[in-house]
Amino acid sequence: MAESQENIGDKNFEIVEKAKKAFKDGNFQTAIDLFKQSIEICESQNWIDGVRYAKGMIEDALEMIRIQKEEEKFLEHEKEQEQQEQEILNKDFESEQITNEQQKKIEEQKKIEEQKEIEKQKKIEEQKEIEKQKKIEEQKKKVKQKRFDEEKRKEEQKKIEEQKKIEEQKKIEEQKEIEKQKKIEEQKEIEKQKKIEEQKEIEKQKKIEEQKEIKKETRVENEKSIKIYVQKGSGRLQCPVCDNNKRNMIREVIDKSHIIMDYPLIYGKKYICGKCGAQWRREE
Ligand SMILES: [Zn+2]
Repeated sequence: MAESQENIGDKNFEIVEKAKKAFKDGNFQTAIDLFKQSIEICESQNWIDGVRYAKGMIEDALEMIRIQKEEEKFLEHEKEQEQQEQEILNKDFESEQITNEQQKKIEEQKKIEEQKEIEKQKKIEEQKEIEKQKKIEEQKKKVKQKRFDEEKRKEEQKKIEEQKKIEEQKKIEEQKEIEKQKKIEEQKEIEKQKKIEEQKEIEKQKKIEEQKEIKKETRVENEKSIKIYVQKGSGRLQCPVCDNNKRNMIREVIDKSHIIMDYPLIYGKKYICGKCGAQWRREE
């Protein structure tokens, strides 16, 4: 069923109004679609002005879209450029910042290093000074020690010498004492010997006296009681009593009772028999 021309006109009006609103709001593609619907309606109804209007509006909308796109593109491009520039700036800034910071850091580091070096040198100098002082102190100590040692050594030497002297003195005194004792002993010994000698001499004299006495007595006795036999001739020596003629059994003694010569004094000989005790002398 075909619609009435009036309803179609209202519909077209409605569509065109919508399209115009969309255009006004900037919704150009929506506007284009709506104007295309309007062109269809107007062509079917041979509404030439309507077609021309809608086509014009579509061209305008397309132009607007193109402009919009270009603008968008331009804006985008500008934005990109701006971004790039910003980035570059940022980068530069950063790098500058970095460089500045780095420079700062480097300088600080350098200062720190310098300070460290100065302190190190200072410490080294101090250490050197300390070592020097130490060495000087050690040297002083050594010299002192040496002096002390020498002093000590001298004192010890002195002591040793004194000790030696004392010991020598002691030895001398001991030696003296020993010699004294020795002399005393010797003296004692001499006196003892002297006494012994004297005693001996006394005893000897006594014995001699006694002997003399005995001899005297014996001689008197002999002269008085012992008979002396006589062996005549120059034959073998023989006891005139027991005829013993063994030479080892006959003892030869001096006969003091028989004086042969007065000056020089010479006594005769007599024989004593070992077997019977008889005494005899020989006569030629
Ligand atoms: Zn006889």
